[in-house]
Amino acid sequence: MIALTESTVRSSFVNVSLRERRAIVVPADLAEREWERLDYLGWRDPKSPLLAFIVADIDGTPVGLQLRQAEQPTRTRPQCSWCSDVTLPNDVVFFAARRTGSAGKAGNTVGTLLCAGFQCSANVRRLDPPAYLGHDVRAARDRRVEALRAHVDGFFRDLMTA
Ligand SMILES: [Zn+2]
Repeated sequence: MIALTESTVRSSFVNVSLRERRAIVVPADLAEREWERLDYLGWRDPKSPLLAFIVADIDGTPVGLQLRQAEQPTRTRPQCSWCSDVTLPNDVVFFAARRTGSAGKAGNTVGTLLCAGFQCSANVRRLDPPAYLGHDVRAARDRRVEALRAHVDGFFRDLMTA
């Protein structure tokens, strides 16, 4: 994704109130991020760790969503909905995000299982050992990156459709 600054990040949020927007703690290390290796930016509020934020490019515009970690709806070992094809080295937790507009004001949310520390971009870029002779591990990685971007895009679009 394209590099973001603090003010772009803060103004990108679409499912927050004015008060919530002012309270967002934007990461201080944005200038050091490897943006070309990120499909979305994700972080937690240091003072209130169940509160999380993600920003992604949607049609070339940064769009931010506030999420809240919630109780998992299932008891099975969860799999991240966004980087689903890899053997995950990290925890996966359930997040709920308020919808935009009047649906959100009425308490309508969308939920998804996500890597607890937003490691999806790193996970899909890990090169696995070849599964068989002639297996193109780089092409497989590129397909995982594409799939992750499609999942991110789909989630944002779903949430912004009232
Ligand atoms: Zn993930």
